[in-house]
Amino acid sequence: MEIELNQQQRIIKDSVRKFLAKEITPLVEDHETGRKLISKDIIKRLEPYGYASGLVAEEHGGLGLDFVSYCIMVEELSRTWASLRTVVTSSALVTKLLSRKGTERQREKFLDQLMAMDELACFALTEPNVGSDTSALEAKAERDGDHYILNGTKTLITGGSLADLVLVYAKVKNDAGGKGITAFLVHKSESSFEARNIRKMGMHSSPLSELAFVDCRVPAENRLGEEGEGQRIALSGLNEGRVNVTFAVVGLGQAALEASIRYAQERVQFGKTIAHFQLIQDMIVKMALKVDTARLLGLRAAGLVDRGVDCRREASFAKLYATEAMVEVCNQAIQVHGGYGYTAEFPVERYFRDVRHLTMAEGTTEIQKLLLGREILGVSAFA
Ligand SMILES: Cc1cc2nc3c(=O)[nH]c(=O)nc-3n(C[C@H](O)[C@H](O)[C@H](O)COP(=O)(O)OP(=O)(O)OC[C@H]3O[C@@H](n4cnc5c(N)ncnc54)[C@H](O)[C@@H]3O)c2cc1C
Repeated sequence: MEIELNQQQRIIKDSVRKFLAKEITPLVEDHETGRKLISKDIIKRLEPYGYASGLVAEEHGGLGLDFVSYCIMVEELSRTWASLRTVVTSSALVTKLLSRKGTERQREKFLDQLMAMDELACFALTEPNVGSDTSALEAKAERDGDHYILNGTKTLITGGSLADLVLVYAKVKNDAGGKGITAFLVHKSESSFEARNIRKMGMHSSPLSELAFVDCRVPAENRLGEEGEGQRIALSGLNEGRVNVTFAVVGLGQAALEASIRYAQERVQFGKTIAHFQLIQDMIVKMALKVDTARLLGLRAAGLVDRGVDCRREASFAKLYATEAMVEVCNQAIQVHGGYGYTAEFPVERYFRDVRHLTMAEGTTEIQKLLLGREILGVSAFA
């Protein structure tokens, strides 16, 4: 297993970091404190680095980056601006699925605009009554000639109100379990639906939306895969999704760690910088160890993805550990900053708010434990 980045990966890390520091960092504070939503023009600036096209194979016009390289880019983006990271990687997830599972016609219709970051996509699985148990989806799609009629509500959708293309999961049959679940590519220019943004704890510059589909007509040619194949499509990207989340939280943990080191080296109490105090060193060493451990677990899983090796266990370990540990790291960063840590004068309160939701996304902490328990013990504790 490689734990050192190769030369190309180091170059990617350095060049992305420099670009983000120059072009993106200056926008963050003003947007986040003013709850200003990220514009498409900001997203477009990321295009040359392959944030949308990176995971698309060269034969489909993408950059065909290795997954480790893409994860490094995700960490850097998250370290800079979690709101931007979340809308960009949600869209990239759909772009990748479309490139791999879509028909020639679907790629022709949608792929270029997404890879160029002129358009944005979102992933719409969760519903008001359906979260962890995705087999219970209530959204329905009924065939009507060369269209499907879609009815249902999707909620907690990252980038929903900003997206041009929504990957919607709905049931075409009333079969028990996940059998009837089908995926549809719903484009704003062809089908109408309503979007409403939901206020949330952090990532104030990224929209989190509820999407309502009422008798929404979707061309049948936009069905992704066969009827009933939706759950398989959703699950097909799960390991990559979990590793992606791992690097998203590592980026925030790294930012919180760096801010804490800076502060500890500058803040003077009792005639010394607080870096001199053993209890501060204890906090910072533990934070650094957690960030390192999470990154290593992520690199192991990402490396397995690159080699095409099944990594269900490694991806779940990385996601479970990293999300829980980075919440602790960001919380601890506030402690290192003392009272200032609780104010918006320093970025650590934002890191804490921004990192918090990732113990929920891509399968909650509890779901990861159930999956790992089943994997390790050979018996299922799912209800
Ligand atoms: C900021 C943010 C962005 C999101 N973006 C998207 C998106 O882009 N697209 C999308 O489709 N969804 C998105 N989601 C939704 C996310 O995927 C869900 O929140 C997640 O799947 C959990 O579902 P739920 O919130 O309904 O919780 P529930 O499933 O209702 O769970 C509630 C609690 O019960 C626990 N629980 C559930 N089942 C079990 C069990 N069998 N045993 C033990 N404990 C259990 C859970 O772990 C949790 O603690 C987003 C959520 C957030 C907060």
